[in-house]
Amino acid sequence: MSIDLRSDTVTKPTAAMRQAMAAAEVGDDVFGDDPTVNRLQELAAETLGKEAALFVPSGTQSNLVAILAHCQRGDEYIVGDTAHTYRYEAGGAAVLGSVQPQPIPFEPDHTLSLDKVAAVIKPFDPHFAQARLLCLENTVHGQVTSLDYHRSAQAFAQERGLAVHLDGARLANAATAQGIKMADLAATADTVSLCLSKGLGAPVGSVLAGPAEIVAEARRWRKMVGGGMRQAGVLAAAGIMALTEHVDRIADDHANAAALGEGLGALEGFEVAPVQTNMVFLTVDQPEALVSHFAARGIVALAGSPMRLVTHLDVDAEAIERVIGAATTFTNQ
Ligand SMILES: *Cc1c(COP(=O)(O)O)cnc(C)c1O
Repeated sequence: MSIDLRSDTVTKPTAAMRQAMAAAEVGDDVFGDDPTVNRLQELAAETLGKEAALFVPSGTQSNLVAILAHCQRGDEYIVGDTAHTYRYEAGGAAVLGSVQPQPIPFEPDHTLSLDKVAAVIKPFDPHFAQARLLCLENTVHGQVTSLDYHRSAQAFAQERGLAVHLDGARLANAATAQGIKMADLAATADTVSLCLSKGLGAPVGSVLAGPAEIVAEARRWRKMVGGGMRQAGVLAAAGIMALTEHVDRIADDHANAAALGEGLGALEGFEVAPVQTNMVFLTVDQPEALVSHFAARGIVALAGSPMRLVTHLDVDAEAIERVIGAATTFTNQ
């Protein structure tokens, strides 16, 4: 069987998940009639410690409807310049919401400096878009930002009248790495988005959690952008398993990534950045040659500088041994 290290989005639903999907009770969720979607949304709200939650097809849509729910046309959101909500969502907030992003660089520790955030908040003046929202992300490039940081960002935002949205696509990884609950991190933001389709192993979907009023607004935007799904309980059933069965096992992904980082880092010509969660960043001279060498041995990876190797539900400790073995034969060539 091939070992796919491109991303934690490549996981396939487990047999138990497929069974739950097949057996899911469904209804028309646009009417609010799908009991399984409703159950997932209640579970997500509870897990994240929020009043309400909304099931959406993707993390991109989750972030988009969150930004549109927080901001009006002509408002601004402050965001890291390599954040997903700025760089990797096709400009959705600007294109579809007329909400202007104000990017600032991430610090080396993947936080946004609150001084730099303060410096881009513009006075009330006819020249300027008005900042409404601070968009944070955790994890960023597999790196964790601390609960303390998020708490200080929350206090800062409250002082400046900004709402906080946390793009927690990999919030389960961020919480696991710090030995805290997802709800602890979620408590530092007004709204939080969590991908069910990454390390948590669902085939499709994300949840957006927050105050009932904002979630209701996000639900209207979700319909507008085409995310109102009908008998979505078949997908939500997988999401429920992701939240109930797959959060605790994220620690295995981290252990596997740590082992992979250690094994690769010991090889001549391989440089590995410190591993915090489920991502290993590897610098080698000839990433394309390594990718071909891997491919010939049933290992799928993306070339890059650094290369990003991601562990997940479908990569076990034995697979890690195989990858390290393949890398060893590469260095011995
Ligand atoms: C994956 C990801 C998203 C959303 O991704 P989708 O592919 O749209 O589900 C959002 N933010 C971050 C940080 C991500 O890694």
